[in-house]
Amino acid sequence: MVGASFALALAETPLRVALVESVAPGSQSQPSFDERTTALGNASRRIFHALGIWDRIAHEAAAIRAIHVSDAGRFGFARLDAREQGVEAFGYVVPNRVIGSALWERLAASGVALRVPANLEGIEIGADRVDITLRRGPQTAPSGAAQSAISVEHVSARLVVAADGAESRVRKAAGIDAQVRDYDQVALVANVAADRPHDGTAFERFTPSGPMAALPLHDGSYTVVWARSTSQAQKALQLDERTFLSELQRHFGWRAGRFVRAGRRAAYPLQLSRATALASSRAVLIGNAAQALHPVAGQGFNLGLRDAAVLAEILAGAGEDPGAPDALRRFAEQRAADRRGVVGFTDGLVRLFGDSRGPVRAARNLGLLLFDLMPPAKSALARISIGFGGQTPRLARGLPLL
Ligand SMILES: Cc1cc2nc3c(=O)[nH]c(=O)nc-3n(C[C@H](O)[C@H](O)[C@H](O)COP(=O)(O)OP(=O)(O)OC[C@H]3O[C@@H](n4cnc5c(N)ncnc54)[C@H](O)[C@@H]3O)c2cc1C
Repeated sequence: MVGASFALALAETPLRVALVESVAPGSQSQPSFDERTTALGNASRRIFHALGIWDRIAHEAAAIRAIHVSDAGRFGFARLDAREQGVEAFGYVVPNRVIGSALWERLAASGVALRVPANLEGIEIGADRVDITLRRGPQTAPSGAAQSAISVEHVSARLVVAADGAESRVRKAAGIDAQVRDYDQVALVANVAADRPHDGTAFERFTPSGPMAALPLHDGSYTVVWARSTSQAQKALQLDERTFLSELQRHFGWRAGRFVRAGRRAAYPLQLSRATALASSRAVLIGNAAQALHPVAGQGFNLGLRDAAVLAEILAGAGEDPGAPDALRRFAEQRAADRRGVVGFTDGLVRLFGDSRGPVRAARNLGLLLFDLMPPAKSALARISIGFGGQTPRLARGLPLL
């Protein structure tokens, strides 16, 4: 999602851009545009608007008008209302597949050279250029008949932008390490319908077995993201629908009504992965290749999209050589504050609410109660939907790059 957004952002510039993606957009096995949904913050909405994506996805976007935060078994809870914070909504929940088809429709009509599906098989990064080997095909027609044989293609460029996810091969080829911490948790994701439609409230609930979020969907149901230990998640995947719903209800409570239906369940292992640098000679990292987060606060894609917007702006103004060291250094500097803020906030939430010791839980309960009474703290949280700092990119202000 981040790489496709970034390529589209550069489409209107004089730069020659090739986008390499190993899994075709409509494929069931596409790992980015899959069954998940993404809560887009207000900065992301503006970036998508500037890229001509928002109008194509708005019809499937559910506005988050309030956020309800609670700790299972405690009285403390906090409620944030978007209007009170002076915004129409904290964010918009959109199915990843809807985002994917809008991005690919726009890309297909753009000047970006698409290498899809094509797998990056080899990469050599030199002082002046990057040489990449791609393996393409075989491509099959809808009838199942083979349309093209396997082919190998060599591409040379001034700069390679790694948007190839947490296990980024490009990052490794660039000699950049990643610090990885396994949360020993798996995110269980399912769409769930309740016996009454939502009113635009998103729920964040911290339970002894892990945090869960229920985000409103356009059709009146919820998407539930429930972080659990690997063994609990495995068991929950096996449960029949009724037993799963009653377990969910037991942990979530009744604030959204009675859960009556659950769609297909999927599981994602969770870790925090942080590249030790954002750039090296002729290579730069964005999205999950730069940092992959726990989904508890729904910030990973939003942060990655801001990476893409800032990098696009810098490269659009970089002149002859988009891979010049000065441009890459400016990118790393401009992204530092936002990155540090979002990673620290997200990891802090997982640690604070993952601590089951009595005094910590009591302090948390008090914290939630006080938080509900303190307008400045609420406003600070509301600002997360915009980003944590650094220069706001032109695209996030709704302005074109050029
Ligand atoms: C359960 C869950 C819920 C989430 N909810 C939210 C949310 O509400 N809000 C939010 O902001 N974020 C959310 N996130 C985070 C968000 O999904 C990720 O941050 C986002 O998908 C990162 O996208 P990416 O494009 O950087 O990486 P990826 O999604 O990992 O995409 C990498 C792409 O690179 C391709 N690729 C990899 N290697 C090669 C190769 N060798 N050759 C060619 N192509 C290759 C892959 O096919 C893939 O398409 C959530 C994450 C999870 C797990």
